[in-house]
Amino acid sequence: MSASQTDAIVVGAGFAGMYALHKLRDELGLSTRVFEAGNGVGGTWYWNRYPGARCDSDSYIYCYTFDKDLLQEWEWSERYPEQPEILRYLNHVADRFDLRKDIQFGTRVTGADYDEATKRWQVRTDAGEVATAQYLIGAVGCLSASNVPAFRGMDTFRGKSYHTSSWPHEGVDFTAKRVAVIGTGASAVQAIPVIAQQAKHLTVFQRTPNFCVPARNGKVDPDVARTRKANYDAIKENIRNSYFGFELNFIMKSALEAPPEERERVFEEMWDHGGFPFWLANYQDMFFSKEANDVCAEFLRRKIRETVKDPAVADKLTPKTYPYGTKRQPLDTNYFDTFNKPNVLLVDVNDSPIEEITPNGVRTRDREYPFDIIVFGTGFDAMTGPIKKMGIRGRGGEVLADKWADGPTSYLGLMVAGFPNFFTITGPGSPSVLSNMPVSIEQHVEWISDCIKHMRESGVETIEPTPDAEVRWTAHVAEVANTSLMPTANSWYMGRNIPGKPQVFMPYLGGVGPYRQHCAEVAAKGYEGFTFAT
Ligand SMILES: Cc1cc2nc3c(=O)[nH]c(=O)nc-3n(C[C@H](O)[C@H](O)[C@H](O)COP(=O)(O)OP(=O)(O)OC[C@H]3O[C@@H](n4cnc5c(N)ncnc54)[C@H](O)[C@@H]3O)c2cc1C
Repeated sequence: MSASQTDAIVVGAGFAGMYALHKLRDELGLSTRVFEAGNGVGGTWYWNRYPGARCDSDSYIYCYTFDKDLLQEWEWSERYPEQPEILRYLNHVADRFDLRKDIQFGTRVTGADYDEATKRWQVRTDAGEVATAQYLIGAVGCLSASNVPAFRGMDTFRGKSYHTSSWPHEGVDFTAKRVAVIGTGASAVQAIPVIAQQAKHLTVFQRTPNFCVPARNGKVDPDVARTRKANYDAIKENIRNSYFGFELNFIMKSALEAPPEERERVFEEMWDHGGFPFWLANYQDMFFSKEANDVCAEFLRRKIRETVKDPAVADKLTPKTYPYGTKRQPLDTNYFDTFNKPNVLLVDVNDSPIEEITPNGVRTRDREYPFDIIVFGTGFDAMTGPIKKMGIRGRGGEVLADKWADGPTSYLGLMVAGFPNFFTITGPGSPSVLSNMPVSIEQHVEWISDCIKHMRESGVETIEPTPDAEVRWTAHVAEVANTSLMPTANSWYMGRNIPGKPQVFMPYLGGVGPYRQHCAEVAAKGYEGFTFAT
């Protein structure tokens, strides 16, 4: 069978892969082929269909901004739209730009080898197909490799079990069912209140309690939507140059300097407003000083005690072992209140570890709990997981997963030395998951597309970072993280949710705006830190 040949291969058809296809095919005129494991576009929003699934970024900025007409024509119904609405939006984008004809669905890339003789990537799929391309774009997502814990007896359970990130398309009926949710991260925080409304009984198994902030979802006011549409140029500029890709800025003051009454008022305002401001627009030293952080954390702990009626349950739900904001901020709608319901039980697995899954349910050290349905809200092998799973081998047959055995290395989170013409969209070492992701995705796709355009105009065939640039950037990513409290938590940002994963802070904390500017300067200086070859 002869291998199909295109200029570019893109792996993944979520926000990132879809825009990459449009940019490379429609603007640069490259023949481009996309492989997507799912049977439709949308990535995260194709897979994560659990009850309560919605984005936590405000809808008016959780979207593409590259096309003015698209921005004007799409109407978001809610402040944080539910998964079906986001998926409808991404399908609309696929139709509008005629993307599907170049996407091969239901096809997983299982290997990619760089052939030094032809200077092309040879990509293999789970269908046994081989395709080659000059450029390989990893648009595999930061949160697309599910983390399914390896409990003993997983296969023996006679009921139904689901992971939030691969939810059945027809939905799950919890009526009259005894349900377990294992995990209390951002997805579980969204799902638990909805499941509790339907299930006969819900048991939540918690390892680490979370600091939650109310989402305060609601319908979008048509006047507000109109004003935003009239101001999208400014909004776009603002989010692209902000710290986290939102219209949010830190309070340029120390939490410790603000008088207690002022602080209390500010906290209450952010609490009432809901959403990410409490996390990303708090006092500027919140992420950096433990004492300042404690003040913010104590406010949130008090809110838990005020909401949860049983003091023992409130105590279990109260985070005490890590600084506030150092794990992904879950936004909640009635999360803590759900634990006041008579049909909801919280089990702290630190007191009573899960020993095995049995045919009837879950056995902890203390007892067996019978269930009809088990929901795993256990998150992802974040950031490096999906890239490693692509089976990438670069120059000299070097295996990327081996190169990253002690943690990911990269230059700008965009490329890796020894892997020519392989680009990672929102790869480790870039702001990625520490940002409103469509902003970071657009920046990467545009940088990559400009880079390929430059290569074609200059008649060069390959680009890759110098080892030195990669070492320096990787050290810089760690150095910036280490100025903050971020690395101190057992977070997935640090790889600590996966047994044996190297403990390295993977995203870049230097800020979306400064990072964008730095990437632009690198390009303006003739792609400083990269080498080109013909
Ligand atoms: C429940 C949930 C809520 C979220 N909420 C927010 C939010 O509020 N704000 C925010 O900014 N971000 C949020 N995110 C992050 C979200 O992942 C990004 O916003 C965005 O959707 C990422 O798009 P992407 O295209 O980079 O990756 P994805 O959407 O993950 O798409 C990657 C695609 O690549 C495919 N793929 C992976 N490996 C292979 C392979 N080897 N072969 C073929 N196909 C492959 C996958 O099937 C997937 O469809 C959320 C994530 C989750 C899970």
